Amino acid sequence: MGSTSAKRGSSANTAIPHGSQSFLTSVNAYFDKAAVLTGHPKGLLDQIRVCNSVYYMQFPVRIKGEIQVVEAWRAEHSHHKLPTKGGIRYAETVDQDEVQALAALMTYKCAVVDVPFGGGKGGIRINPKNYSVDELERITRRYTVELIKKNFIGPSIDVPAPDYGTGPREMAWIADTYQAMSNGDINALGCVTGKPVGQGGVRGRTAATGRGLFFAVREAVNDAKLMKKLKMSTGFADKRIIVQGFGNVGYHAAKFLAEGGATVIGIIEWDGAVVNPKGIDIEALHKHRQQKGSITGFAGAKTIKDGNSVLEYECDILVPAALENQIYKENAPKIKAKIIAEGANGPVTAAAEDILNKKGILVMPDMYVNAGGVVVSYFEWLKNLSHVRFGRMDKRFEEGTNTRLVNTIEQLTGKSLTAADRTFIARGADEEDLVNSGLEDTMISSYNTIMEHYYGNAKVKDMRTAAFVSSIDKIAQSYLSLGIFP
Ligand code: NAD
Repeated sequence: MGSTSAKRGSSANTAIPHGSQSFLTSVNAYFDKAAVLTGHPKGLLDQIRVCNSVYYMQFPVRIKGEIQVVEAWRAEHSHHKLPTKGGIRYAETVDQDEVQALAALMTYKCAVVDVPFGGGKGGIRINPKNYSVDELERITRRYTVELIKKNFIGPSIDVPAPDYGTGPREMAWIADTYQAMSNGDINALGCVTGKPVGQGGVRGRTAATGRGLFFAVREAVNDAKLMKKLKMSTGFADKRIIVQGFGNVGYHAAKFLAEGGATVIGIIEWDGAVVNPKGIDIEALHKHRQQKGSITGFAGAKTIKDGNSVLEYECDILVPAALENQIYKENAPKIKAKIIAEGANGPVTAAAEDILNKKGILVMPDMYVNAGGVVVSYFEWLKNLSHVRFGRMDKRFEEGTNTRLVNTIEQLTGKSLTAADRTFIARGADEEDLVNSGLEDTMISSYNTIMEHYYGNAKVKDMRTAAFVSSIDKIAQSYLSLGIFP
């Protein structure tokens, strides 16, 4: 029963109110600022910027004996590489503007971290808290059927993943529905990523975005030239951090930053914040939230009722990891952090970023900082297509080789290693080691590429523009070598 308002290949941007400060307007403003610095022809830049296809659907679901009409979207921003890739969001605020903005960001994000996908994004306009697990399963499976009917999902077409309000459970339902309807497609599991490990997921995916954020921020704080510019010392030891959002991205980011040596002094949630200048025990707070359903009232920190006021507290690094448009024109002048690392997609509006740039605050852009999720999703997709767990073929062989090497060194030197050292050195890499290592390498090499544009082009004044220039260059190159069909 799904209806298509803007079908594959049609221009969908006409629905967006031009001149408003919508999320999509912000993303396009960032794009335009960088595009003029690239020297690519206008027509090519126009093609990179527009959204290739949007599918808007309305479908019925039986909820508590009543029929409820559910609204949903899937946007495929760019088909310059296939499949397209991007999460599915469940929230009451989802609309076409938001889905298109997020899909565009996915295109730029994939290019910046060299993941060979175009950008996509989906959303269902519901508050998942209002539905039972059974009802959510029915909505998710029906949405998947709508996507199948219009060819908006498939391992070589469009591959969703989790986003705000969804997780491995929803991804497993999507994979199962697709598999049931795909008539024996051996690659069916590659139709979605972020699945539970037992259902074709990859180890390390759940923590990947937060871990990637940690690597990104670590590169920045260890960049002596950058730290000198920001009048900060290198390393994590004296860095005070505030994180907004304690969900998948926020919790893992806070955990890895604290383990890396930084002090997390504040966590903000929708119903309040907790602060402790001496540092918050992230695992204890996580446990408290699981038990009480809220971070407020945590014994290891002071609860602040007006959570968002904590965005304006004194700190070194602010990590907005909840939703878009959290730092805007009105609160930007009050931000005291020296670095903002965007864990969420679009948490800083274009108007706010102008103010932050003038204040000398470094904004590390979402398209790089939170790319860890799509990097590891790419690894999961590769695993699904190759039908074998990473490390399965070579772990034992690697351990055998390492053990023989250690034995030879012991014989030649006449000295023996402790049992613990021997086990540590001889150990072969398992799936999670390989995934984390691939993620770390990607985040480091992408940082270096972005910073080549940041330091190397006098017209590039901020890190987001540097990331956009890097991304646009790669997509333009791809289009130029691809040609235009027919
Ligand atoms: P999530 O649903 O796991 O967590 C979001 C958290 O933010 C929840 O704890 C929620 O209670 C909290 N929150 C909601 N409104 C808030 C408010 N006004 N103030 C403070 N906290 C609030 O979602 P997630 O997967 O962590 O995604 C968060 C952001 O990161 C989104 O913008 C998403 O697009 C982006 N992102 C997620 C991934 C991923 O792998 N999950 C990857 C890239 C980007």
